[in-house]
Amino acid sequence: MSKKKIFIIGSGFSSLSSACYLAKEGHSVTIFEKNKSLGGRARQFKKNGFTFDMGPSWYWMPDVFEKFFSDFDRKRSDFYELKKLDPAYKVFFGHNDFITIGDSIEKIKKAFEIEEKGSSKKLNVFIDEAKSNYQLAVKKMLYEMPGNSPMELINSQTIRKISSFITNIRKDVRKKFKSHRLRLILEFPVLFLGAKSSNTPGFYNFMNFADFGLGTWQAKNGFFDLVNAMVDLGKSLGVKYKTDSNIDSIVVNSNEVNGIYLNGNFFSCDIVVSGADYAHTESLIPRVNRQYSSSYWKSRTWAPSSLLFYVGFDTKIPNVEHHNLFFDTDFDKHARSIYDKPQWPDEPLFYANFTSKTFKKTAPKGCENGFFLIPIATNIDDSTQIRERYFNLIVSRLEKHTGVKLSKNILFKESYCVSDFKNDYNSYGGNAYGLANTLFQTAFLRPNLKSSKVKNLYFSGQLTVPGPGVPPAIVSGKLVSDLIIKDEKNI
Ligand SMILES: Cc1cc2nc3c(=O)[nH]c(=O)nc-3n(C[C@H](O)[C@H](O)[C@H](O)COP(=O)(O)OP(=O)(O)OC[C@H]3O[C@@H](n4cnc5c(N)ncnc54)[C@H](O)[C@@H]3O)c2cc1C
Repeated sequence: MSKKKIFIIGSGFSSLSSACYLAKEGHSVTIFEKNKSLGGRARQFKKNGFTFDMGPSWYWMPDVFEKFFSDFDRKRSDFYELKKLDPAYKVFFGHNDFITIGDSIEKIKKAFEIEEKGSSKKLNVFIDEAKSNYQLAVKKMLYEMPGNSPMELINSQTIRKISSFITNIRKDVRKKFKSHRLRLILEFPVLFLGAKSSNTPGFYNFMNFADFGLGTWQAKNGFFDLVNAMVDLGKSLGVKYKTDSNIDSIVVNSNEVNGIYLNGNFFSCDIVVSGADYAHTESLIPRVNRQYSSSYWKSRTWAPSSLLFYVGFDTKIPNVEHHNLFFDTDFDKHARSIYDKPQWPDEPLFYANFTSKTFKKTAPKGCENGFFLIPIATNIDDSTQIRERYFNLIVSRLEKHTGVKLSKNILFKESYCVSDFKNDYNSYGGNAYGLANTLFQTAFLRPNLKSSKVKNLYFSGQLTVPGPGVPPAIVSGKLVSDLIIKDEKNI
């Protein structure tokens, strides 16, 4: 097999992953990232001694990360420190009303039993089923499904689980558990897949095993430790990284990739892999070569966008944990404002993390770094006034739950929303994490890893297979590399 010159667009996790696999195969690989720093949506923001992950914060499915490094005969622990969180997270339902999720199934069962008598036994059955789905989905199918054909989904094990593709998470959870609060907790993990629980196949309850069975972990400096680890690994394999490098266009001649334009200069290459948002990448090639129309993109179910705040507090904050979910408003009403009738939610639920609770150096002594997230619809107006209104709302709810007048302890705050996702990442509609994993946007029904119209043009990332989230993005990088390596062998 001849060695190829491969250009990768974007430096999100799928790109960092594919770069390593392709360089290991001996190809010459260069990553081009439009922003000043690497990591895509997982960049890091530092200010006045405070450190924040700009995007992902829940480190779930640690086995996927371990597998990635082991594919290069390395260990995750060669690169960064990881700690299992206890408690994993705290869910607030009202004033002095919360459930804490511990770091073991035994602790979680106790919390369930207090909330609903008999629920711990039901949880056992539910998690056993979720574990079996995890073993099938994550250990096997994820790595063997490049999304080429429906046949990938069909094997002796999946046939037995066909009913779990027909039902949905919400139905399954509500059949088994009566407590509204336990239901919300069990429906929460599928939010990572980008859709409502009523629109997510029951099979995806493997996310509940990821949550309760495998636990929530934290790297010392957050997800950026993983970015640095993957870049260090890539450099050791010969990958070159170029930041401040916005690709203007991909040059296609006779339906074949020839190279790229960067800052008005042409650079030739043999293969392009884009980990940038799919619709944006297709806008970089002539219309005639695009696989998907604008009406296709418009008709997709998008994962939410988000309103984010990065806040430096000059005090320690009591009564909150590392990860906190504020489910003290109507979840269904909020979900409708994201998916059914896109608008700002009246009473949003929100998520807050304080990594300084676990790794003290992420904030100055006696301080706390607060990251806040409200999931919202894509493509909505995000003016300064709107952001301010929601910030005040979050702070007053936080004050109620913590019992501290926190508005007096804010050293600084930065916000991030729809227009920032568009400007910084060329994100379609300002989506935060790609295309949702609904039944009709699963596996071969997601956008292709390989262009059907342009030779040597490939795609990876959260809009392709397997879907949104850091672990899937890393797997997506492997799947696209496997495809390229196979295609090159067949020439
Ligand atoms: C707020 C938020 C919270 C999240 N929380 C979690 C979580 O807790 N746990 C979890 O597992 N996942 C979470 N996710 C999802 C996860 O971060 C993403 O699914 C994953 O990081 C996406 O990786 P990707 O490879 O698709 O690329 P992306 O991260 O989308 O990177 C694409 C890159 O391409 C670059 N690019 C675009 N156009 C060009 C161009 N023309 N030229 C050069 N470069 C270009 C962009 O600048 C960007 O850096 C979260 C995401 C967000 C935004």
